[in-house]
Amino acid sequence: MQITVKNSILELVQGDIVHQEVEAIVNAANTTLLGGGGVDGAIHRVAGPELLEHCKKLGGCNTGDAKLTPGFRLKARYVIHTVGPVYRDGKGKESALLASCYQRSLEVAKENQIKSIAFPSISTGAYRYPLHEASRIALDSITHFLDEHESPEIVRFVLFGEEAFQTYRQTLLEISRKHP
Ligand code: ADP
Repeated sequence: MQITVKNSILELVQGDIVHQEVEAIVNAANTTLLGGGGVDGAIHRVAGPELLEHCKKLGGCNTGDAKLTPGFRLKARYVIHTVGPVYRDGKGKESALLASCYQRSLEVAKENQIKSIAFPSISTGAYRYPLHEASRIALDSITHFLDEHESPEIVRFVLFGEEAFQTYRQTLLEISRKHP
């Protein structure tokens, strides 16, 4: 499924982010940037040990921020590492921090003239953000950014599994009524 926002395409696919042929893939990392499980582990496995060596020099990353590295053995030229919030009860800064992950990742992409980028569903694995709420924040943040910046040209969500894909699809259908 895809929609057009200004000059950009926002699309959803079900699959594995490590195989995406885009300029940059986004990693749902942790504050150490020294690797972890989930999508982080998968990206490091395919990128190779050079990625961890490079990340060691970055001094970590704050929650809600994003940092760029090469993609090493990945098809993607770059990895943008962002750190999502751990979900507690939704009453704290979780939603603002999650929105910030998408916004900062897109800013870093723009600063580096990256024209195509793929995101995983940040914070909805080990960090336990409820999928429906997270999908709304993710897609709202991205459409808002594309409305204002008209870049990158392609933003792809790569959803791991049917439940995540169907949840994001439903949310995108709701949002697309505002972007016909
Ligand atoms: P977080 O700690 O931010 O919650 P996780 O990696 O635990 O990060 O999970 C984030 C999301 O990424 C989850 O929805 C999970 O199903 C998904 N995921 C895990 N592996 C992959 C992968 N290879 N490609 C795309 N998404 C993935």
